[in-house]
Amino acid sequence: MTEITRFAPSPTGLLHLGHAYSAWVGWQAARDGGGRFSVRIEDIDGPRCRPEYEAAIFEDLAWLGLDWHPEVWRQSDRIPAYTQAVERLRGQGLLYPCFCSRTSIRRELAAMANAPHGPEGPLYPGRCRGLSAAERSDRIAAGEAHAWRLDTGAATARVGRLTWWDRRAGEQSADPASLGDVMLVGKDRPAAYHLSVVVDDAAQEITLVTRGRDLFHATHIHRLLQALLDVPVPRYHHHRLVRDDAGTRLAKRADAFALRRYREQGLAPADVWAHAGVAPPAPGRPAFRSA
Ligand code: GLU
Repeated sequence: MTEITRFAPSPTGLLHLGHAYSAWVGWQAARDGGGRFSVRIEDIDGPRCRPEYEAAIFEDLAWLGLDWHPEVWRQSDRIPAYTQAVERLRGQGLLYPCFCSRTSIRRELAAMANAPHGPEGPLYPGRCRGLSAAERSDRIAAGEAHAWRLDTGAATARVGRLTWWDRRAGEQSADPASLGDVMLVGKDRPAAYHLSVVVDDAAQEITLVTRGRDLFHATHIHRLLQALLDVPVPRYHHHRLVRDDAGTRLAKRADAFALRRYREQGLAPADVWAHAGVAPPAPGRPAFRSA
């Protein structure tokens, strides 16, 4: 099957073994069917993104023997597309401004007897969902900093039952409520991850989204956003996570597992692939079709 895939790292640190595996899954799927593998730089994650990390991503991928479509997307170039999606959702009456700070949310959750909890931690308790239209506009007019959240309950009621498909786990019934009223626009970030990833995967016509199992639950909300924005629904492959010998997940800051460090220690790409548990990419045709 011809697959269009992408590897979408955030340039907030050096790539590690887990990234190598993730890139390989996308690369291999595209290459198997004569499709297209792209790299997308998710660089709107605030000041933690650094150009030197972006440069290192390409160096490391090339060193590993992977290739990718020459057109590289950067999320910082895509802000107008995200803003358009936000306008569309706002036009449907499904977004509300949220004035809460992280601290006030934490305090509110701590004071609740049954704080709402999702697969990724505590959920937004919903304080700003209940504000009146007048209070919202007054506070915005007064210049109070605010984010924008999705009214997930109202959105789900609008679109009804949704499903999505994962290559390992099969057909899934979407459960967006498990993530609550996610933030789609941050106080100082034009688009949060959930929004930008959906907009970009659709715009790049991704057919198979390959990423780690840690993002499995995020897909419930992505599926809902796809329905609201009326974009095609890709298939998914949430792959295993590479763990260290103690069974711990490799966090991005796990410098010891950085591909760069392996290289400095004189290891060859084949050694890295062996650590990741896959066969080194065989030379052959490129993993992209020309545009
Ligand atoms: N930038 C995200 C990450 O590095 C990408 C997630 C995805 O592939 O959807 O975790």
